[in-house]
Amino acid sequence: MNVLVINCGSSSLKYQLISMEKEVVMAKGLVERIGIEGSILTHKPEGRDKIKIEESMKDHTDAIRLVLEALVNETYGVIKDMSEIGAVGHRVVHGGEKYSESVLIDDEVMRALEDCTSLAPLHNPPNLIGINACKDLMGNTPMVAVFDTAFHQTMPDYAFTYALPYELYESHGVRRYGFHGTSHRFVTAAAANMLGKNAKELKLITCHLGNGASLAAIDGGKSVDTSMGFTPLEGLVMGTRCGDIDPAIVTYIQRVLGVSNEEVDNIVNKKSGVLGISGISSDFRDIEEAAEKGDKRAQLALDVFHYRVRKYIGSYAAAMGGVDAIVFTAGLGENSPESRCEICKGLEFLGVKFDESKNNFRGKAEFISADDSKVKVIVIPTNEELMIARDTKEIVCG
Ligand code: AMP
Repeated sequence: MNVLVINCGSSSLKYQLISMEKEVVMAKGLVERIGIEGSILTHKPEGRDKIKIEESMKDHTDAIRLVLEALVNETYGVIKDMSEIGAVGHRVVHGGEKYSESVLIDDEVMRALEDCTSLAPLHNPPNLIGINACKDLMGNTPMVAVFDTAFHQTMPDYAFTYALPYELYESHGVRRYGFHGTSHRFVTAAAANMLGKNAKELKLITCHLGNGASLAAIDGGKSVDTSMGFTPLEGLVMGTRCGDIDPAIVTYIQRVLGVSNEEVDNIVNKKSGVLGISGISSDFRDIEEAAEKGDKRAQLALDVFHYRVRKYIGSYAAAMGGVDAIVFTAGLGENSPESRCEICKGLEFLGVKFDESKNNFRGKAEFISADDSKVKVIVIPTNEELMIARDTKEIVCG
């Protein structure tokens, strides 16, 4: 069976067609500038050169139509016709409290997803548009929604409840939801595999460190806490997001700068994080390079970032009463030996014995702790698309 995985953003769309027999990617690509002048599809059939198709796309339906045409194209396509797509898996950001697992999409699910829109006003609408566009173009092909929030629905109430008036939770759903759940779930399964154990026997701390970043405490295979909260703004320092701050700062900045709600929102989401501290870039590669050349604010941005991750690791070990392994994943976690080393410094008291000689690599699954380390440290490349495809196949085929 071939599964088409779709991840729709407001003006972009990423896709992969995965053959599930051996879990291999047949083609993948990206559509950018949907609904904007200069729309472009970059399509990459596996083992062949990528091609770029510049064509006006007024909406997501146009974009998906073009993707489907590319997949069946005689020259650069990978299937003969659309009947070779057995199912579609959609990444959906917010499933609210209703969805703790992936689900087959029907009318009732669509209504529930629309209800979740107020919780993720930037992310859920494009996800829904993508689903509707596929429905229009692909008729009765079964479709599955895979939620970023679902894996964290196992958090106990004392981990997801904010100390705010309880009615805000009851009436408006204000609570911790957590995000990156598909990635945390993928690396949990992969880590258990590498450790030769069942996830049920393990206490893991999974560190998804990319442009957006979050940690999760996984006890017995279940997420029991995670650093992102009501939105993906809480927790770690990120590329452009501030993570944890004193909430009083928000009203203070509004007062002293005389700026609107929208501008404060923009400051904490788009102008903060390592970009805000360094004043250089949101990309850790640029910041590491500047710090190496002696830029003090770049170094400070890295120090604040590493310190926050280390502090969360300590608190999650305390939350679970121990930890068997710490897992690094996503852009920075997979590719920055320096960050992994800095974060692990000072964790010896937990039983972490970091082995620098094993750490000098990028983008593969390896242990980076000493053989006799009580707490193992592992790097695992995440693969959210494959996780979405696996769920889709399982739900559709049973
Ligand atoms: P992601 O959001 O998972 O795609 O991760 C993107 C981030 O990973 C980028 O902003 C980079 O800062 C970081 N990254 C990717 N490759 C490297 C690298 N070789 N060294 C340091 N950081 C990297």
